[in-house]
Amino acid sequence: MEKADILIVGGSATGITVGISARRYYPDAKIVLIRKEKQVLIPCGIPYIFGTLGSTDRNLIPDSVLEKNNVELIIDEVVSIDKDRRTVETSGGRLFAYEKMVLATGSLPRVPPIPGVELDNVFAIWKNVEYLQKLQNALAKAKDLVIIGGGFIGLEFADECKKRGIANVTVIELLPHCLLLACDEEICVRVEKKLSERGINILVDRKVVSIVGNTRVDYVESDDGRKTKADVVILGIGVVPNVKLALDSGLEVDEKKGIYVDEFMRTSNENIFAAGDCTRKRCFFTGRPTFLRLASIGTMEARVVGANLFRLRQRSECPIGVFGTVIGDLAIGSAGMTEREAREAGFEVITGEAEAPDKHPASIPGTRNLAVKLVFEKDTRILLGGQVYGSMTAGKVANFIGALIQKRMRADEIVTFQVGTHPMLTASPVSHQVENAAEIALTKL
Ligand SMILES: Cc1cc2nc3c(=O)[nH]c(=O)nc-3n(C[C@H](O)[C@H](O)[C@H](O)COP(=O)(O)OP(=O)(O)OC[C@H]3O[C@@H](n4cnc5c(N)ncnc54)[C@H](O)[C@@H]3O)c2cc1C
Repeated sequence: MEKADILIVGGSATGITVGISARRYYPDAKIVLIRKEKQVLIPCGIPYIFGTLGSTDRNLIPDSVLEKNNVELIIDEVVSIDKDRRTVETSGGRLFAYEKMVLATGSLPRVPPIPGVELDNVFAIWKNVEYLQKLQNALAKAKDLVIIGGGFIGLEFADECKKRGIANVTVIELLPHCLLLACDEEICVRVEKKLSERGINILVDRKVVSIVGNTRVDYVESDDGRKTKADVVILGIGVVPNVKLALDSGLEVDEKKGIYVDEFMRTSNENIFAAGDCTRKRCFFTGRPTFLRLASIGTMEARVVGANLFRLRQRSECPIGVFGTVIGDLAIGSAGMTEREAREAGFEVITGEAEAPDKHPASIPGTRNLAVKLVFEKDTRILLGGQVYGSMTAGKVANFIGALIQKRMRADEIVTFQVGTHPMLTASPVSHQVENAAEIALTKL
């Protein structure tokens, strides 16, 4: 039997980060990481394989990060856990004993039970090099691509596939707008306009009822009777937590929402921690279970695990959800709740909006506008959410807003928050979008 002080199951964003953090806190521990796949993709970079990057090879996390941190890598699949004996068995027939174990088994793409979903050339987004190479080959011959799902991932695929020259790219979205789970309607409309300008067809408020073809897909039928020609279909409708191993080993698990963990990221067994897409998460604002699954959340949880393995030092935060993406030259960022989501959750809200050039003076070459919308709870003035769109600074500003949300800052505090500005780097201090949006919201009280 092989032995490890810390055994990590899963080697993507979360598992690797557990290894790095654990090494910092426990320099002498023997750390072993077991993962299924030979090569690990940068999950968030997957859509860019099909346009900007051109190949899976250019989107890999190098194993050197594990070597550098003295984390032993084993390519194998853990098939069972014996919690009492503190051992795991792999499909390759190896047996490992552990002091502490971390489950970072991630998520699997959601495959809807639509008739025809099993046809050739219908692809879900598996985080797997060989599978994505098959998608790459199929796209090389494609003229008509249908993407089911108009969230961030679906739109990133649409934009990248258009970039690589696929003639007809169509996104079919169930909700009245693309990106509606992350942005308010007025921002979704701008994104849809940008997609149309780039030649992408958007069909919203439509449910796909079947994928039709003989062995290969021919077309996709939606509930309005429309038949959209397709030689490749991509499913971009979210993920489900990968919890089979945890479930089979008798840990407390909600099959749909994930492995139960406490604020220290401990599972129902004191020697087993879990982090990342496989865990059950609660919304920062309401405490209710949330669908949010992001690499940025998984790595935050991983750092908590790394710190806590042999001594509890760090509490995890419930996820806020900070997103960013780019469609053409339009960058979009979102943190926390949208106005619609906040109202639906029962908050009375006020909003403030401000738009300004992202450099000053605006005559500096490359200056673009950036608009910010902030959403506050009316009574407390606490920031609940923010959305950003326009220039490429959107991602950084969304992260700034995320930090203000996590610290539960009020509009009046944000107005006096000290921001650094510079002509080449930021908006002018006079027109700084976050400060101004907060002040405009305050004047509505
Ligand atoms: C196309 C796409 C774009 C995305 N873009 C973004 C983005 O821009 N920003 C962002 O924050 N998030 C993004 N995400 C979400 C992000 O990819 C996930 O949140 C992240 O991958 C979660 O990491 P994880 O390590 O928890 O799980 P996963 O990435 O799912 O990895 C799970 C790991 O566990 C291994 N494993 C599972 N079971 C076993 C077993 N029994 N034995 C051994 N190994 C096992 C797997 O092989 C894998 O290594 C995107 C996701 C996709 C699909």
